Amino acid sequence: MRRSVTVFPKLSDKEVSAIVETGKQYARAFNMSVDCLIRNNSTSKRFLHKVQYERMKEECPTLPTGLIQCARDVAVEAVKAWNVKRTKLKQRNPNKAERMRRPSMKEKCTMRYDVRTVTLRGSQLTFSTCDKRVKAIISIPGFFTERYPGSEGWKLKGADIGINRKGRVFVNLIYECPDYDTVENDGKIVGLDRGVYNIVTTSDGVHYGAKDARRVKRKYNHVRSELQEKGTCSAKRRLKAISGCEKRFVHDQDHCISKKLANTDGDVSVYVLEDLSSMNMLRLRGKSSKTMRKWLSNWSYSDLESKLIYKCQRNGIRVEFVDARYTSQKCSVCKTIDKASRKGNRYVCRHCGNSMHADVNAAINIRDNYITRVQQSGQAAVNQPYGWSATGKPATEPVGKTLTSKLSGLS
Ligand SMILES: [Zn+2]
Repeated sequence: MRRSVTVFPKLSDKEVSAIVETGKQYARAFNMSVDCLIRNNSTSKRFLHKVQYERMKEECPTLPTGLIQCARDVAVEAVKAWNVKRTKLKQRNPNKAERMRRPSMKEKCTMRYDVRTVTLRGSQLTFSTCDKRVKAIISIPGFFTERYPGSEGWKLKGADIGINRKGRVFVNLIYECPDYDTVENDGKIVGLDRGVYNIVTTSDGVHYGAKDARRVKRKYNHVRSELQEKGTCSAKRRLKAISGCEKRFVHDQDHCISKKLANTDGDVSVYVLEDLSSMNMLRLRGKSSKTMRKWLSNWSYSDLESKLIYKCQRNGIRVEFVDARYTSQKCSVCKTIDKASRKGNRYVCRHCGNSMHADVNAAINIRDNYITRVQQSGQAAVNQPYGWSATGKPATEPVGKTLTSKLSGLS
């Protein structure tokens, strides 16, 4: 398991300017590597080293060789990711793929350090720069040492060092613990439906972050459209500031929701999510009206996903993904797929009369899809959710009905 923590060391002006100069040369080494890789259509570290290493040493004369190697490795990774992204885009939009910007680094960059270029002994942090090796005393925040006990098994794997927008040097320390033992919970399986209006709805009928998110997002949408219409210099400045505010709001909201979901005191063993990785899913889900497209465009489902995964990992909860198709159109009780049964946020089945909140219906379908998949693949140890027999069919009372009674108070 990997975890990172950010610290802000106190440095003299001379040391800061050395870091700035290091950043410049690091960016140059990175950009040279990317050029070389794309020109030769390669993603081989060895090839790059053979062709470019001596030239990079000449071009970046004072950059420590350890950092040249880091820049080279980062460049190889960036080009690999770029290739994957471009191949995917090519299938859908060849023109756009052709215009896709290649990876590049600005002078004010974040540098990756490895164990050779950064060390931490006690509270003394040292890392190489173009000038001398910088030494600084740091203190790691209490929440981190409490949560991930510092000395046992946790090793420093490297760091990201850079200068933030306020001109402060930050060090993002990356720790790794290869044999961190999380005990897997022995609880129930819960399906999660993610949506634009209700950020997350569980198959137990709990909604997260609905009202406030919608209000704030609507406010930002309104202000943004007003400013875009105005188009003056100060309006553009304001737009930029607003985009930051909105991003921070969404990040905070995702942190809060994922934290609530992850801290369940061992009740939950698996969270099942729908796989939304292909953007086509979004189009399938939403009506293609202009308002809907606007909502979908700032829907932060992947951010919540990554936060949930890392928080659940520590608490022994697995996060699984299932096919997202028809989860919102299928009845969770009689399993009939009928698009017309869904009206707004209610799902009223035209075949069996089951009536419940549409998101809860989808969440139950997501959970059941996972259970069916596990049963089909022949894994024996599946913890059945309450109200379900081993055959995957309702045991005594359909889950849908119990939920409807719970929900009548909510909606
Ligand atoms: Zn039905």
